[in-house]
Amino acid sequence: MSKVIYPGSFDPITKGHMNIIDQAGKVFEEVIIAVLQNSDKKQGMFTLDERVEIIKKVYENKQNIRVIKGSGATVDVARANNCQAIVRGIRSLTDYAQEVLLKQVNQDISNNQIQTVCFLADCCYQFISSSMVKEVFALNKDISSYVEPYVKKRMYEKRGGQK
Ligand code: ADP
Repeated sequence: MSKVIYPGSFDPITKGHMNIIDQAGKVFEEVIIAVLQNSDKKQGMFTLDERVEIIKKVYENKQNIRVIKGSGATVDVARANNCQAIVRGIRSLTDYAQEVLLKQVNQDISNNQIQTVCFLADCCYQFISSSMVKEVFALNKDISSYVEPYVKKRMYEKRGGQK
């Protein structure tokens, strides 16, 4: 069975992430979304458990999409879940440069066992990032084009309900 892991912070999951998951789901039999702490990013809006819970709800009707919370090296999480490859998404040349480095490191530290597969964001998702969504939300502007209604609801709840 072809099984891949899609690691990320997902704070919160956006329609951009979902575009990549959708593409990966058409090529591989199972996609495991792994919510991981990114040490480069400051404390997030949601806890890791909340992010997992939100993604589970968003994909509750999809049989080939699973969600887990991971820790440590992505290649180890991939191995522990019997995944042959890591999926990443590319929006821009900046993403490309970063993903090239990550791919090389992951290949090295997995002794060439875990491959990386990158999907290109469809045009209308290229500018979406979790941090942009949080900024627009903080400005009290509508985020419906960037996240699923359930994600938006959870963001309002987090803020204390006020719109
Ligand atoms: P990380 O902290 O690992 O960068 P993110 O949740 O920001 O976690 O992103 C996870 C992956 O999804 C990365 O490969 C990132 O480039 C990709 N990604 C994020 N947003 C988009 C988007 N709008 N379109 C395509 N790929 C995206």
